[in-house]
Amino acid sequence: MESGARAWKQDGGQGWGKGAYRRMIDEEAASRNRRICKRCLTRDMAGQEEYFRSLHDYIENMDPDIKAPEQVYETRLSVCRECDLLFQGMCKSCGCYVELRAAVGTNGCPWKKW
Ligand code: SF4
Repeated sequence: MESGARAWKQDGGQGWGKGAYRRMIDEEAASRNRRICKRCLTRDMAGQEEYFRSLHDYIENMDPDIKAPEQVYETRLSVCRECDLLFQGMCKSCGCYVELRAAVGTNGCPWKKW
């Protein structure tokens, strides 16, 4: 609480305004000694393999009738990798893990990028 008040003062009274969220994320990353990757898929996050294992297993074992073909899936993910809305494997527009969203053949990008 005290450090939050100090941070607020150092922020010139801007509180959670410009830059505050970014600093919080950076501090959390530093405290966990891990790197934040803005445009990574979950499968690209080194050291997080165990955390995302159930997601990857689910995609791997998805019913072939609903699963997107592999080439379509990879094309979709390559579009997401270039998108400003991708943050740590998650789409900031829809809140989905993009690897899961892209794996379902009938799904689409909320911004119609794929
Ligand atoms: S689903 Fe669409 S909006 Fe979301 S990260 Fe991928 S390309 Fe961007």
